Amino acid sequence: MYNLLSASPRAIAIARIAYGCVYTTPSTTTHLLTSTPTRSFSHLHRLRRTVSLLRPPTLSSCPNFLTGNSHFCGMAVIAPLFSYLSLMWLLSGHGVRDSKAMVEGLQGYGVISSKKVAEVMGTIDRALFVPDGTPAYADSPMSIGYNATISAPHMHATCLQLLEKNLQPGMHALDVGSGSGYLTACFALMVGPKGRAVGVEHIPELVSSSIENIQKSAVAPLLKEGSLSVHVSDGRLGWPEFAPYDAIHVGAAAPEIPQPLIDQLKPGGRMVIPVGNLYQDLKVVDKNMDGSVSVRTETSVRYVPLTSREAQLRGY
Ligand code: SAH
Repeated sequence: MYNLLSASPRAIAIARIAYGCVYTTPSTTTHLLTSTPTRSFSHLHRLRRTVSLLRPPTLSSCPNFLTGNSHFCGMAVIAPLFSYLSLMWLLSGHGVRDSKAMVEGLQGYGVISSKKVAEVMGTIDRALFVPDGTPAYADSPMSIGYNATISAPHMHATCLQLLEKNLQPGMHALDVGSGSGYLTACFALMVGPKGRAVGVEHIPELVSSSIENIQKSAVAPLLKEGSLSVHVSDGRLGWPEFAPYDAIHVGAAAPEIPQPLIDQLKPGGRMVIPVGNLYQDLKVVDKNMDGSVSVRTETSVRYVPLTSREAQLRGY
C-alpha cells in the first residue's frame, strides 16, 4: 500500500524524477516516496510549475508547494494526493496512445520546453524500441533484457534538452550505453545526414536489436548512409573513430567520469553523465575552449551502472 498521506509533494517529485533507467516496481516506488533523502533539485522549480497545473486554485497561496513544507496549508492532504495520482497516471501510460500524446504529457508537466526536442521525440516512435506488450508511452523505464532498461521518457527529454545546443546539424554525438537505440536515433535526427551519431553498447544482443529497432524508425536512412552507427564495445573507452564529439550522453551511472570520454569531448562540447553508486547525480560536463573542464550537477537520478559486461550479466 502506498504511503500517500506521508508523501510530501517534494517526495512525489523526487520519485517522479528518480527513474533514469532503473526499472522500479511499485514497492520500490513506495520506498522512494517514503525514504528518499532530501537533496537539492534545480528542476524542482520546473516540476513545481508542472504540478501547479494540476493543483486546485486554493493552493496558489501556498508558496511551499513541492518543497516538502506544505503540511498545513489549505488542502494539504488533497493536493499531494491529487498530484500523486496525476503523476502515477503519467507513469502508467494509461490512455497515452502515441508519441505525440507522450510528448504533450511531458510538455504539460513542464518536462519538455524545447520545440525541437518535442518534435524529435514525436518523430522517433518509442514503441519501436520497447519489447512487445509493454506500455510504450508510459513515463517509466522498461526492461529490455540483459539487466538493461530503456530510460524513462522524461530522462530522455531532459538529456536531449541539456544537449540540444550540441546536437545541431553537422555535429558529432556519442551515446554510451545505447541500449534500445532510442536516444541514438534521436541524436541522429538532430545532427542529420551531415553529422554523426554513434551508439556504443557492450551487450552484442542489444546492439543487434537496437539496429533492428532503428531500421523500423524514421532515421533508418541515416543508418543506411552511415551517419548513424551502433557498435559493440566497452563504452568507458568512448569511440575514438569519430571523436572529438560535440555531445556525449552516458546512459548508465559511472563511479567517476571516465577520462577517455573527457578526452573525446570537443572544446565547446558537452557531456551528460550520471555519476555515483547508490546516490547518483546527473552531471553536466562542459569542455571550455581552452580545454579546461567545468562540471555541475543537474539533478539526482537513478540509473543502472556503467560496468563490465560480466558484472552486468550476473546482476551487477
Ligand atoms: N540509454 C539507453 C539504455 C539505458 S540502460 C536506452 O534508453 O535505451 C544502460 C545501458 O548501458 C544498458 O544497455 C547497458 O547494457 C549499457 N552499459 C552498461 N555498462 C556499459 C559499458 N561499460 N559499456 C557499454 N555499455 C554499457
